[in-house]
Amino acid sequence: MTYKSMPKVEIHHHIEGAAPPKFIAGLALEKGIDISKIFDADGGYAYDGFGEFLATYEAACTPLTGPQEFYRLTQAILAEAAEHGVVYLETFISPDFCGGGDVAAWRDYLAAIEQAAAEAEHDAGITLRGIVTAVRHFDPDQANLAAKCATETAGDFITGFGMGGAETHLRPADFAYAFDMAREAGLQLTCHAGEWGGAAMVAETIRDLGVTRIGHGIHVMQDPNLVAEAVEKGIVFEVCPGSNVSLGAVTGWNAHPIAKMRDAGLKVTVSTDDPPFFHTDMTREFTLLNRTFDWDVVDFSALNKTAMEAAFCDDATRAKIAEKLGDAQ
Ligand SMILES: [Zn+2]
Repeated sequence: MTYKSMPKVEIHHHIEGAAPPKFIAGLALEKGIDISKIFDADGGYAYDGFGEFLATYEAACTPLTGPQEFYRLTQAILAEAAEHGVVYLETFISPDFCGGGDVAAWRDYLAAIEQAAAEAEHDAGITLRGIVTAVRHFDPDQANLAAKCATETAGDFITGFGMGGAETHLRPADFAYAFDMAREAGLQLTCHAGEWGGAAMVAETIRDLGVTRIGHGIHVMQDPNLVAEAVEKGIVFEVCPGSNVSLGAVTGWNAHPIAKMRDAGLKVTVSTDDPPFFHTDMTREFTLLNRTFDWDVVDFSALNKTAMEAAFCDDATRAKIAEKLGDAQ
């Protein structure tokens, strides 16, 4: 078994952020939308720094104009993930990009995504679950609309609520209402923190939003007391090393704290975040973790197990993932 064929569980992944650039370029052409400036000479996504990354990301979303486009997008991202051995994927889906936060429009987008997911599960054996995601720099009122969409569609497929976007915009408590709504609807919670913000941002996110998982969270290591608290609470970290290196949140693979986080007793998992934007995939993440920290199949099996246990899915689905992982490990 190779790192590519090894079954994997991935829990931090943005549906639009995973859109292959060729797919987006083709769609833009079909629709007569000119977004040529977001592509580099090799046809990949072009940007410099996190601010430009967000702008390029939003521009790449512009040809995704309706449910049918998200149906095709879901097909493309699941084919890509399955190719790299992913057997269970959780993806962030933003109602802001799927109907502008309108619940009726959101239902249509979601039906299209679920349809493609059901087909991929049948054909390629990959299971998808959706985490409704607010975009932080769109402000709390818009986050409340995203939460409303989440609560209206919580169920077998939409199992979680989270927030991404510009992390240093406002404080976690400003978004507490959206997270409270989602929690009351039975959704499980995660939030990006500690990628650009420091340990205090992670602490406030755990305290004020009541999340059980943190997206990235690498700067938790600045505060030993917070590390101890996160260990005690069993907080799970959705670590995306290739993303952190690519965007400059750390200076390089050697400087990435994932090994120190694990050694400190934190629950760590590995995901790709926005794979084509960071020229990565799950095979590359495993390969570079092997090269940098000498992690091997035993370590990767442990990452998979942590992710499987932390997955926002029901127990029957979790048992199915365990079976797929267990057969191969
Ligand atoms: Zn992310």
